[in-house]
Amino acid sequence: MKNLLAIALMAILVSCGARQKNVDNADPMAYANTITASDLKDHLFTFASDEFQGRETGEPGQKMAAEYLKKEYQSLDLPSPMGNDDYFQEVDPSYFKRGNIESTENVMAFLKGSEKPDEIVVISSHYDHVGMDEDGNIFNGADDDGSGTVGVLEIAQAFHKAAKDGYTPRRSILFLNVTGEEKGLIGSKYYTDNPVFPLENTVADLNIDMIGRVDPDHEGKADYIYLIGSDKLSTDLHKLSENVNKKYMNLDLDYTYNDENDPNRFYYRSDHYNFAKHNVPIIFYFNGVHADYHKATDTPDKINYDMLAKRAQLVFLTAWEVANRPERLVVDKPVEDKSAK
Ligand SMILES: [Zn+2]
Repeated sequence: MKNLLAIALMAILVSCGARQKNVDNADPMAYANTITASDLKDHLFTFASDEFQGRETGEPGQKMAAEYLKKEYQSLDLPSPMGNDDYFQEVDPSYFKRGNIESTENVMAFLKGSEKPDEIVVISSHYDHVGMDEDGNIFNGADDDGSGTVGVLEIAQAFHKAAKDGYTPRRSILFLNVTGEEKGLIGSKYYTDNPVFPLENTVADLNIDMIGRVDPDHEGKADYIYLIGSDKLSTDLHKLSENVNKKYMNLDLDYTYNDENDPNRFYYRSDHYNFAKHNVPIIFYFNGVHADYHKATDTPDKINYDMLAKRAQLVFLTAWEVANRPERLVVDKPVEDKSAK
């Protein structure tokens, strides 16, 4: 009996030791530094290996990639947002107008906020790619978007470590790896049509699509990232993003592609746009296109892992601030054309 009492007391002491601390006293850079070039490299040399056969939506390689992500989230003890063992959101095949895709899924993991758990910050990437060609050449998609996907995994790891130390973010974080991007932003369309948490409560989406390379315009000055969309819906988000970068990372934030008149129209071309059209503020993180874009030569040996780490750290630190600031981001420039929904 005495022993039982001692064990119970121990349990109480241990649980007190891990109890919630004031997150304002945490140093987010200490957790950002757990996102390392070598961890990202380890992940990507598997995730963008030939074994995954180019991760084409609905194909065995994409399923393997989904399992890989699920296992990583499970190893971090990050639960499914559905509150069960199912990390997959099956996408309705009717969403695919072309091709015969019978089954494919988004992958999700969740960190519940300590004070405002109903307010959700989404960190997203697409984990599908374009598969193989008729000659059997495998399109590994190391940059597109293996880089963003292993970035999300490392960001999840950093948030999880902070939470374990008692610094759970105030708001909840949804780690969202979508499928079907290369088929026309399908996985993100499906998620935003069928959100696990209401989009009204979704504070922001930080979307990563290609952050592991240096484009020809930045040769010799690799410390950059293109930001797209940060000022489109929320002045708050844009300012926060700038301040976080200035305080911690000092990357050259390049807004070339944020220009409404830019012919590339990248704002409309990756998964964040499905959030933006519902008035959820977004930032799209992007390294620009390069000679290996959508070619079989987009391989993991060509990734700049130091830059990949720095950019993923910037996303983590920005998400940290969005999730922990006292007030929710204000949407002061909503999308006017509701038909765009
Ligand atoms: Zn992509």
